[in-house]
Amino acid sequence: MESALEQIAIYGGVALFCILVVWIYLRKQKRESKIVEEKINKAKQEGLFEPVSLHPVIDINSCIRTGACVSACPEKDIIGIKDGKATTINASKCIGHGACFHACPTQAITLCIGTEKRGVDLPHVNQNFETNVNGIYIAGELGGMGLIKNAVEQGKQAVENIAKYHKLPHHAEFDLIIVGAGPAGISASLTAKKHNLRFTTLEQDTLGGTVYTFPRQKIVMTSAMDLPL
Ligand SMILES: Cc1cc2nc3c(=O)[nH]c(=O)nc-3n(C[C@H](O)[C@H](O)[C@H](O)COP(=O)(O)OP(=O)(O)OC[C@H]3O[C@@H](n4cnc5c(N)ncnc54)[C@H](O)[C@@H]3O)c2cc1C
Repeated sequence: MESALEQIAIYGGVALFCILVVWIYLRKQKRESKIVEEKINKAKQEGLFEPVSLHPVIDINSCIRTGACVSACPEKDIIGIKDGKATTINASKCIGHGACFHACPTQAITLCIGTEKRGVDLPHVNQNFETNVNGIYIAGELGGMGLIKNAVEQGKQAVENIAKYHKLPHHAEFDLIIVGAGPAGISASLTAKKHNLRFTTLEQDTLGGTVYTFPRQKIVMTSAMDLPL
């Protein structure tokens, strides 16, 4: 009789402990969801919820709430976890590191430009970065492709192609005019120098483009790249 009572007490204790753990977990999840929901509402009021350019799109059927995307993102509050699923918060602040995409173990994230509500007009360029306006090339952020590394590579390739295809003699003062001295423009200018093109670089502000205006102590996510010369 005594051992049966003891057994009931043990099983009851274990069951109570399990219920307590689940309760604490659900309460924590509810509290975190509420915080994320408040941030989403604030983002909506400030017009930051709707993405303007590259941003993560989450397939909630594949999301298993590991939170890896949230930890991987070097920016703050682009993604959060609400009701057990990842969701975007300040999507328009996404600058396209792509870290969330790589971190997700279930491939629930895709990186997209534009949304159903807000389309993004991108210039039409061919594989040499020449636009449909003959002789005008676009590289870097303006072409819709963020990130320093991409801008550097595109600036370099655009000028490599100009050097290759535009060898016709002309009477103009310059072979090439580069507008903007951000990563794309600097890379384009160095490539132009490498090919002995007669060029000038016009900058309305400061050398370095957006990078020059990064907030202090910002973590810059990038990888090794080759600058011409
Ligand atoms: C807050 C923030 C954080 C970021 N963090 C990262 C990061 O960690 N890692 C990363 O890889 N990328 C990051 N990026 C993105 C990165 O900065 C850009 O992708 C990159 O600077 C693009 O280079 P770009 O040369 O194409 O353009 P920009 O850097 O924008 O340079 C364009 C230049 O052109 C000039 N210009 C524009 N119009 C004219 C005109 N009419 N006449 C003369 N000059 C003109 C501008 O003044 C500017 O200097 C971040 C962006 C932001 C906003």
